[in-house]
Amino acid sequence: MLDEKLEPIFADVLRRNPGEDEFHQAVREVLDSLGAVVAKHPHYAEGALIERICEPERQIIFRVPWVDDRGRVQINRGFRVQFNSALGPYKGGLRFHPSVYLGTIKFLGFEQTFKNALTGMPIGGGKGGSDFDPKGRSDAEVMRFCQSLMTELGRHLGEYTDVPAGDIGVGQREIGYMFGQYKRITNRYESGVLTGKGLTWGGSRVRTEATGYGAVYFVERMLQQRGESFDGRKVVVSGAGNVAIYTIEKVQQLGGRVVACSDSNGYVVEEKGIDLALLKEIKERRRGRVADYAKARGAGAVYVPDGRVWEVPADIAMPSATQNELTGQDARTLVRNGVRAVGEGANMPCTPEAVRLFIEGNVLFGPGKATNAGGVATSALEMQQNASRDSWSFEETEERLATIMHGIHDRCAQTADEYGAPGNYVLGANIAGFIRVAEAMRALGVV
Ligand code: NDP
Repeated sequence: MLDEKLEPIFADVLRRNPGEDEFHQAVREVLDSLGAVVAKHPHYAEGALIERICEPERQIIFRVPWVDDRGRVQINRGFRVQFNSALGPYKGGLRFHPSVYLGTIKFLGFEQTFKNALTGMPIGGGKGGSDFDPKGRSDAEVMRFCQSLMTELGRHLGEYTDVPAGDIGVGQREIGYMFGQYKRITNRYESGVLTGKGLTWGGSRVRTEATGYGAVYFVERMLQQRGESFDGRKVVVSGAGNVAIYTIEKVQQLGGRVVACSDSNGYVVEEKGIDLALLKEIKERRRGRVADYAKARGAGAVYVPDGRVWEVPADIAMPSATQNELTGQDARTLVRNGVRAVGEGANMPCTPEAVRLFIEGNVLFGPGKATNAGGVATSALEMQQNASRDSWSFEETEERLATIMHGIHDRCAQTADEYGAPGNYVLGANIAGFIRVAEAMRALGVV
């Protein structure tokens, strides 16, 4: 049940954003946490502050025409939702996936606003993308698509305005093509307009690794609260993209054993532990599938097409693929198999029922907006390096990332304590993120 002051706000969100289920889900989760805040501090429910937080500042939708390798004209739809700029320029990734529609981008932009606030850095929230499917497309096609997208999107960006990065389907290759086109149409080498760049053209060390590494740092800190660690633990990671790969890398460095990972076609389980060098070779260089990895590994690895990776027993689960990929049923299976901690590397990968089951089952649960904030935090470090025309070492940058993740963890934990829900990181993250955004919005007036 929602607080009676928040009920009409949510009803309004449903009415004004029909058919956008993921957006409704993300808003509902935050509002569920805010009852305690408006009870303690009623001024946050005044001046339509919460209503304004739920309404993006600007939503841009545009046509992206491009020509494929056979000379045929293709049309996709581009989106940028500039959600909230109270704390700084809009900041958040671009997603290229055929399932993308306005509701996906709005949910991601809403989450991003609180996530960015939690980092304590001067960045607002935004998100964008397209229903373009990069799978099976040649390099030249991806380049023409990225150039066309940026030709339109570029006019809305700027290092002090809106700074995109990568997300699903957008890595360094795509950022390169988009940065090249932005540079061409503006005639400016404005490094700070995009993050996730290559090291030779303005990128930051650790940005590639940051989301996965950061998620592991967050979970490590949660485990420490109970006197535990990754050492010797069995871990299951979903996905096999950027976040999954660098989650596996850091878990292995901390002595954990990742026994399974997946993609949208199935999962691979390997009791001895995933061979990360081979996985990287197949995913990052050959752009292959998890099935190719299993085939290359032979007898030691079992590939399960269409299976659910959460069937594999583990001490720690790190969902790192996509939204709503871990259901209530999956959560029951994990709890039955003795899972001790779950850290969301992806955005909103656990359904509300799954989250409830983990919290009720006393499983340590790190919500995405806190756990996966290392990516955007390191993007903000990339912006700092661009602004000062500097470049930091790997060690220095990773140390800063670790400090930021520990700070986020502690802020969430302290806020949960303060609101009478010790150990509830969902509540802690939502409230701490909300208060930082809300305070800035109150100071800036009705704009
Ligand atoms: P990638 O595109 O690198 O990898 C995504 C992985 O998830 C792939 O293995 C993909 O499999 C799988 N996947 C995608 N959609 C589905 C689906 N519908 N069902 C099953 N598997 C799916 O993306 P990232 O690793 O960058 O992003 C993963 C998650 O992390 C997303 O939720 C993203 O928003 C979040 N995130 C990413 C950040 C970053 O810095 N990159 C920062 C913070 C959060 P397949 O190849 O079969 O599609």
